[in-house]
Amino acid sequence: MRIDIISLFPQIASGALGESMIGRAQERGLVQIHSHNLRDWAQDKHRTTDDTPYGGGQGMVLKCEPVFAAVEALRTPEARVIYLSPGGTPLRHALAARLAAEHTHLILLCGHYEGLDQRAIDLLVHEEISIGDYVLTNGAIAAAVLTDAVVRLLPGVLGDAASSAEDSFATGLLEWPQYTRPVEFQGQRIPEILLSGNHAAILKWRQEQALQKTRLRRPDLLGEAAS
Ligand code: SAM
Repeated sequence: MRIDIISLFPQIASGALGESMIGRAQERGLVQIHSHNLRDWAQDKHRTTDDTPYGGGQGMVLKCEPVFAAVEALRTPEARVIYLSPGGTPLRHALAARLAAEHTHLILLCGHYEGLDQRAIDLLVHEEISIGDYVLTNGAIAAAVLTDAVVRLLPGVLGDAASSAEDSFATGLLEWPQYTRPVEFQGQRIPEILLSGNHAAILKWRQEQALQKTRLRRPDLLGEAAS
């Protein structure tokens, strides 16, 4: 997969995605992530990328022309153009899994200030995605979150030791509690079943714990599983 991130702050995404597993996935050639500066496609000598909103009001709006030029320069026939936006489809596991399974090239457009001129969205964007019901100062942070959520699902990125198949949401439930050494810490002992060596009983206990935790914290997930 190739992911192109277009923003005014390319270091935000490249810094966040250059470390740990996503950094290693890039080194191993499992994914190519390129973080671009929108100003490189500005059309004037001042490298202007924004202007005041028609109709008045606060802030600045990203202009159509540099965004168009950037997407035109980076687009391939397979490219899926996504605008990170608070008004987009909420990012859930299933959405990340769909992008990982169905697309080989993502172009992620990141807004800043008041966002992006609506005409650029209408003419270029296949889908808008929100990473949650809050507003960030810019889309590069959201693009890094989306990229991490998608790339970790690509074959080979996590490896067997950290498979995503049993993680929260992938199973439709939250994950069961995890423990490691020591057996006792500050008077708290791990559940005895985990020391039993009985793998079937451990699996049953874990599934019960996952269900109980989901019922308590995210009953909405159980509703979704049933529907
Ligand atoms: N005026 C916009 C609104 O009220 O919807 C918010 C603009 S926000 C300050 C600047 C940029 O950050 C947005 O254009 C978008 O790219 C990004 N952004 C902010 N919150 C986001 C979220 N929850 N999900 C995805 N992107 C977000």
